[in-house]
Amino acid sequence: MLDLNLRVHSDLHLPSDIVTHKHFIDGQYLESASGDVTERVAPSHGVVVSRAAKGTEAEVNLAVAAARRAFDNGRWCRIAAKERAIVLTKVADLIEQNVERFALIESLESGKPISQARGEVGGAAELWRFAASLARTSTGETHNNLGDDILAMTVKEPIGVVSIITPWNFPFWILSQKLPFALAAGCTCVIKPSEFTPSTTAMLADLLVQAGMPEGVCNIVLGHGDPVGALMTSHSDVDMVSFTGSTAVGKKVAEVASDTLKKVTSELGGKNPQVIMPDADLDAAADAVVFGVYFNVGQCCNSSSRIIVHQDIANAFIEKVVALSKKVVFGNPLHADTQVGAIVTTEHQQKIDTYVQDAINQGATVHLGGAGMHVEGLSNQFYQPTVISNVRPDMAISREEVFGPVLTVLTFQTLDEAIQITNDTEYGLSAGIWSENINNCLEFSRRANAGTIWTNTWMDGFPEVTFGGMKQSGQGREIGQYGFDEFLEIKSMVMRIGKTRAPWVGDT
Ligand code: NDP
Repeated sequence: MLDLNLRVHSDLHLPSDIVTHKHFIDGQYLESASGDVTERVAPSHGVVVSRAAKGTEAEVNLAVAAARRAFDNGRWCRIAAKERAIVLTKVADLIEQNVERFALIESLESGKPISQARGEVGGAAELWRFAASLARTSTGETHNNLGDDILAMTVKEPIGVVSIITPWNFPFWILSQKLPFALAAGCTCVIKPSEFTPSTTAMLADLLVQAGMPEGVCNIVLGHGDPVGALMTSHSDVDMVSFTGSTAVGKKVAEVASDTLKKVTSELGGKNPQVIMPDADLDAAADAVVFGVYFNVGQCCNSSSRIIVHQDIANAFIEKVVALSKKVVFGNPLHADTQVGAIVTTEHQQKIDTYVQDAINQGATVHLGGAGMHVEGLSNQFYQPTVISNVRPDMAISREEVFGPVLTVLTFQTLDEAIQITNDTEYGLSAGIWSENINNCLEFSRRANAGTIWTNTWMDGFPEVTFGGMKQSGQGREIGQYGFDEFLEIKSMVMRIGKTRAPWVGDT
């Protein structure tokens, strides 16, 4: 019997009703023209918890047309930024008032622990507030040095209609990394959440209405990647696609969008390492490693799924990590103490297990876990916290995104070698180093190829600090000033003062 800190029962009850959702288009709630719906079974409890309209081309066309009209008639982009900021701030307040309701369904649909769902929804309010502040402080540039008779300026304008496509791992947080920033810039939007986690996005519609968002500015189409997401990417009336999900689908999105030369920003996969130097505070590092790999059941683009440990301390460090892993509270997502919940789908559970079994067959050592499991009274959709060493850098488990509670351990002897292993991946989302030596920390931070480098911490994030990936982890940035700027076009305006322009065509 695996020695885990299990929670079987919960403090919260399953809701007695299945929540149902319609599309939200041009300020109206609509069923699908086809009448089709998608049901979501809670991965932890195995019962249907939500039922959402399943969109088709008809709903995408209506939503894009509504967003286009709302953009072109200026009801959002031409009002004062102060007015937009007031609406966004009201949405933030309403989110905070609805944390409990949103968190419960987010936990049930995704399998994540209720405490993490509460943190995700409540924390998202700050993203809306910060975006509101950026709306008001956005400025352009002037060129006052081009000669007495010329004044030029660059102004920033909203890019237009934005398609926002989000995944199932942090449905409300990822939506909030994109939507308030697009809205602050003056864009109008068509949004598609994952088919597995539609509820919190659909429930946001009510809050937008209460906050006074004009009709047509935000439109939500529920449904599957094919056809809804694909049409939102190819539609000629869409100006930009903001996508988060797998690298494979991210590449498809970029390819399809290139047909109409839409701008694409994408936040994709990662294979994020934490490097542990022998002089590090090893207790703090072990705690961050455990947090980094089990948070959100490892279904996290920022998961620190590989650690690169100095050879001299590798065995002792693995022992620390295994001991801490056994203390992590695992099981029923609706128990307030649970830290690791259920896996999103059976297919995904199978994918995680295939990586683990292949590694074992290729000679890897399992220190903890290594299999799916049933939690009494719940479902089979749980995966044991798993720690694996003796992996080679060329194994799939060392190179590909496992997206589960599975840690692989690699070792190194010099900082140079650690940096080489860090960068030996097609991804470049985040990386971290643990050391008490500032020179090691600075050298690693400068030479690691990743969009975010953490030093003596992991996954600390702030609305002010931009986020995004290098290499195949994505294009563009989210949140912070740079994330806001992605939703803006730059226009140059050149003005001549007086009639000083020499004629091009002469008198003769
Ligand atoms: P996907 O990339 O398939 O899904 C992300 C979003 O894109 C969903 O809303 C999905 O719709 C939509 N989508 C699917 N196909 C298309 C398309 N052709 N055009 C436009 N949109 C589309 O991720 P999955 O949910 O299938 O997860 C698969 C893997 O991706 C995971 O195992 C993990 O490795 C990685 N992943 C990475 C994430 C990250 O944060 N970087 C987040 C989630 C997953 P729908 O699913 O509703 O059909």
